[in-house]
Amino acid sequence: MTEQDQFDSLMAIAKRPPIIMTHGKGARLVDQHGKEYLDFIQGWAVNTFGHSPEIVVDALTRQANSLINPSPAFYNGPALDLATKLSKNSCFDRVFFTNSGAEANEGAIKLARKWGCKYRGGAYEIVTMENSFHGRTLATMSASGKPQWKELFEPKVPGFLKVPLNDIDAVDAVVTEKTAAVMLEPILGEAGVIPASECFLKELRKLTRERGVLLILDEVQTGMGRTGKLFAYEQSGVEPDIMTLGKGIGAGVPLAAVLAKEEVSCFDPGDQGGTYNGNPLMAAVGCAVLDALIEPQFLERVREHGDYLALRLEELARRHGLGTVQGRGLLLALDLKYEIAEAVVERARDWGLLLNAPRPTLLRFMPALNVSKKDIDEMIGILDGVLSVETFSR
Ligand SMILES: *Cc1c(COP(=O)(O)O)cnc(C)c1O
Repeated sequence: MTEQDQFDSLMAIAKRPPIIMTHGKGARLVDQHGKEYLDFIQGWAVNTFGHSPEIVVDALTRQANSLINPSPAFYNGPALDLATKLSKNSCFDRVFFTNSGAEANEGAIKLARKWGCKYRGGAYEIVTMENSFHGRTLATMSASGKPQWKELFEPKVPGFLKVPLNDIDAVDAVVTEKTAAVMLEPILGEAGVIPASECFLKELRKLTRERGVLLILDEVQTGMGRTGKLFAYEQSGVEPDIMTLGKGIGAGVPLAAVLAKEEVSCFDPGDQGGTYNGNPLMAAVGCAVLDALIEPQFLERVREHGDYLALRLEELARRHGLGTVQGRGLLLALDLKYEIAEAVVERARDWGLLLNAPRPTLLRFMPALNVSKKDIDEMIGILDGVLSVETFSR
């Protein structure tokens, strides 16, 4: 069997280079030919502590040896611990665990609809942002504002109204008695690291309170320390009613969560669930991840290294006549000004550096939260080389 035959045994859901990753440690990944890569994608802002970190390996090993799956019909220690820790470290009271970010958002949508049914005369509509990304289940694709998805998998789940980000008048215009919630990412990740302005978030909180609808923040990408605070909502001083987490909370294993305030937590037994939801194996990892993030100085270092990465990217941009750097903490993007991002990603990969291009003109940087300054310098060095030596048609 050739490598290509093996590739063809998988459904072609993504364009992938003929690379098979075999192992990884920290900031490094190694492929089937022994080639090493410096990884600034880290599973799309997922691997909080890099590849196969001790924190995750230890938690998995310890938990696997005692209890993997008692079933969601019973309580288990790690799920209780993690839910308690999350409540203690956020403005929320109750948690529902899921296996992916999309599933968490699906849960948040269901919770908002249940709430609308119970407390707002059957309101079910949810206002979301143009260009937003909330996942790939049918409902979360319907909630997403990705233009390429408009015609895909029709008919969509009804009840999602799209408005431009940072436009409070647009939100005001579509909120009616049928509206249950407004839902958004504090920083639109897949759209190209576009922050919701602090002013917009504050106005949005005011508007949703006045009009009696819920505010849902999708922190699947921004949560768990990514932006330099445990949760991005802390930076705006705005408390949502519901928040979803994913990606970084599992640091590489499938774990996600819906968090809600007490008065919104209105699921009745039987409304929501799932075979693997809140299983102790994943929850044990979540506990270890959260414990590490709230260690003194950890988030301070994330902010410091985020500032350093931004600074080095700005220098690089000046040297090569590129555009601006946007984002916060260790979720940053560099505007290349021309549609060369995909070509840069491919060349960089040849040079042993893994980067992501969320848009044709944009590079996104999502290193592990414990990335070192040395790794940042090395990344900048490679990217500088790629931009200096290789030619890109502009
Ligand atoms: C990645 C992402 C999701 C989807 O998470 P999955 O685990 O891939 O289902 C949802 N929302 C945002 C903001 C994301 O970045």
